[in-house]
Amino acid sequence: MHKAIFDKHFTQQESIPEAGIERAVEILRAGRLHRYNTLEGETAEAALLEQEYADYMGQRYCLACSSGGYSLHIALKAAGIEPGEAVLTNAFTLAPVPGAIDNAGGKPVLVEIDSDYCVDLKHLEAMMQKSRARFFMLSHMRGHIADMDTLVTLCENYGVTLIEDCAHTMGASWNGLKSGSFGKVACFSTQTYKHLNSGEGGLLTTDDDEIMARAIIYSGSYMLYERHGTLPAAEAFARVRLETPNYSGRMDNLRAAILRSQLPDLDSNCDRWNDRYRALEARLARNPGIQLARRPEKENFVGSSLQFRVEDLDQAQVSDFLASCAARGVELKWFGGAEPHGFTSRYDSWRYIDEIQSLPQTLKILATTFDLRIPLTFSLADMDIIGAIIDEEVTQLLG
Ligand SMILES: *Cc1c(COP(=O)(O)O)cnc(C)c1O
Repeated sequence: MHKAIFDKHFTQQESIPEAGIERAVEILRAGRLHRYNTLEGETAEAALLEQEYADYMGQRYCLACSSGGYSLHIALKAAGIEPGEAVLTNAFTLAPVPGAIDNAGGKPVLVEIDSDYCVDLKHLEAMMQKSRARFFMLSHMRGHIADMDTLVTLCENYGVTLIEDCAHTMGASWNGLKSGSFGKVACFSTQTYKHLNSGEGGLLTTDDDEIMARAIIYSGSYMLYERHGTLPAAEAFARVRLETPNYSGRMDNLRAAILRSQLPDLDSNCDRWNDRYRALEARLARNPGIQLARRPEKENFVGSSLQFRVEDLDQAQVSDFLASCAARGVELKWFGGAEPHGFTSRYDSWRYIDEIQSLPQTLKILATTFDLRIPLTFSLADMDIIGAIIDEEVTQLLG
């Protein structure tokens, strides 16, 4: 049998829009790359980005900073975490999330996921009771949005402050409300593989005056905070300006410029991701050996990646499957490995967490979960080729 090979790169992003490149060159020529280096009457590119992203989100405030992980770190600090406090988070996420909790002096307390890759709400409630945590850093990992109605009610009932990690849900919504508007603070990443690309970068949004004032000062504003794009009233700063340390993590104008040029296309790009996701999902659904996540009616997700399970594979077959797909150019990630690999790591490899919890449900789900990126440089026809390769390799192994 002739075996099709896929030859595009799973890490190839689209180019930055020409308008962004032109603006970036202008900024380079002017030399004013630092966000507080402005001429009389000039609004820095970083401040303009903050205004535009706050508008996009329908939130009062936005802070542009150096990375998504950094924004998670200062979100917790600005929300008032005390040293050694427990912070709930889902066990299936990327390493910067527990890392941000640790960096803020907190102790990650992990919560099981369900078979649709969302936080398990029953286990969440049990862990809220057991840990008495005041904070829950919810990672909308791989864009799967939990039942936010129930989740928000749980947080309210237990007096838990919700912080949303929206690295994979920028542009997504639940029941018509943007992901990132459910918690006290939301954090986004503009690192290359997310929904906006500035190489590195983070955006923090909130409606809370005091949290925003603190976050701005943490981010390294010195006493130049009045130059920010979205600014709480002076009283909010008066309360916090001298008692908030500077944790330097600003965004510069160059990155802000290339992000601003991408923002107008964000929603249409989300549609393009979803066209690709739906095409691949439909192709994979033809194989009864492949289990796909259910996507609730209320969830308007962004399909920039796809996860599936092949539950009948044993450990050795998982390795064979990964290798045979890779040999045909289909780069799958596997979150089930005991050893961290590339960007992926299983929760039990985060050894700095004092107590390695036992989360059998999460381990079982991840053991046969495969994950692939869907870059916008792939066409709909590519989805068919990738789907066919996965389909054939699953059939080959399961017979
Ligand atoms: C990328 C990512 C982050 C952090 O973003 P950086 O900008 O890389 O620091 C946080 N959470 C998740 C789930 C991510 O994928």
